[in-house]
Amino acid sequence: MTTKEILVGSHVSSAVALHSAFRRGESIGCVVMQIFTKSGRSWLGSKITDKEVDAFKAAAKKSSIKMVISHAGYLINIASNKTDSVKNSIKSLIDEIERCEILGIPYLVLHPGSHLGAGENKGIEQIINNTEIALEASPGKTMILLENMAGQGTNLGYKFDQLKQIIDGCKTKYRKRLGICLDTCHAFAAGYDISTPESYKKTIKYLDEVIGLEHVKAIHLNDSYGALGSRIDRHAPLGEGKIPLQTFEWIMNDKKLADIPKILETPSDNEMALWAKEIKLLKQMVV
Ligand SMILES: [Zn+2]
Ligand SMILES: [Zn+2]
Repeated sequence: MTTKEILVGSHVSSAVALHSAFRRGESIGCVVMQIFTKSGRSWLGSKITDKEVDAFKAAAKKSSIKMVISHAGYLINIASNKTDSVKNSIKSLIDEIERCEILGIPYLVLHPGSHLGAGENKGIEQIINNTEIALEASPGKTMILLENMAGQGTNLGYKFDQLKQIIDGCKTKYRKRLGICLDTCHAFAAGYDISTPESYKKTIKYLDEVIGLEHVKAIHLNDSYGALGSRIDRHAPLGEGKIPLQTFEWIMNDKKLADIPKILETPSDNEMALWAKEIKLLKQMVV
C-alpha cells in the first residue's frame, strides 16, 4: 500500500476561505480532512456563493486530498426539549446539511445532543424526531454521521446502543442517510477499553455487533486525558493521554477499518505542526 492510500488526515481550518483548506491540508500531509463549512460557534453561516462553490470544487479536483468531511457546529442540540434552542438547532442542522450538499461533501459529523435533564429516553426520542425533520427538509446525498460521545453531563450517544437506537428509530428512507463517526477519545472515556490487544478487539467486535462496521463512515483519532470510563471529554495529542500509542497502530493496521477516513482532532497551541507530525507517524505505523 502506498502512503497515498492511507486515508488519514486532520481537522483543517477553512476560516480564510473554504477552498483554502485544501492547500492547508496538503501542506501537513492530509489524505483526507475535516472542515467546518461555517464557524463552529455560530447558528447559521453566510450563504455560500456560486463563486465559492466553483473555487471549492476546482480545488478539490486538483488536490491530492481524496475526501472531505464536515463537522457540524457546536451550538446544535437536537436532543433539547427547549423550544427556542431546538428550533435554532434544527434550522442550523438543515443549513449545515445544505452547505455540505452544495459543496459535494458526503458526510456531516454531528454530536447527538444533550437531554438537559429530561432523561435519556426523552432525549433520544427528540433526536430521532428532529433528525427526520432535518433530513426531510434537506433532500440529497449528504449523510449525517452521529458521533459517539464521552458521556459528559447529559450528553447522549456515549453508548453504541444509543446510536443504534437513534438510527433504528428513524424511518428507512432517512436511515440511508445516517452513519456513525467513531471518536477514540470519546469511546475510551465512555468506558470502551481499547488499551490492550484483547480489549481493542473486543470493543471493535462489539461495535460491529451493535451497529455494524459498514455504518462507521469516519473515525476521529484522539488520545484521551480522561481515564477509561471517566466520561471526561478532553482530547490529548497521540501518546500523551491514557490511550496507549500502540492502539493507534492497531487501528491503522486494522483491515476492517482500512477504507474509513481517519481524522485527528488533537489539541495544541500549534495544531498544524502537531498534526503534520502525527499524520506522518500514523502513516509510518502502517505495515
Ligand atoms: Zn465532534
Ligand atoms: Zn471527535
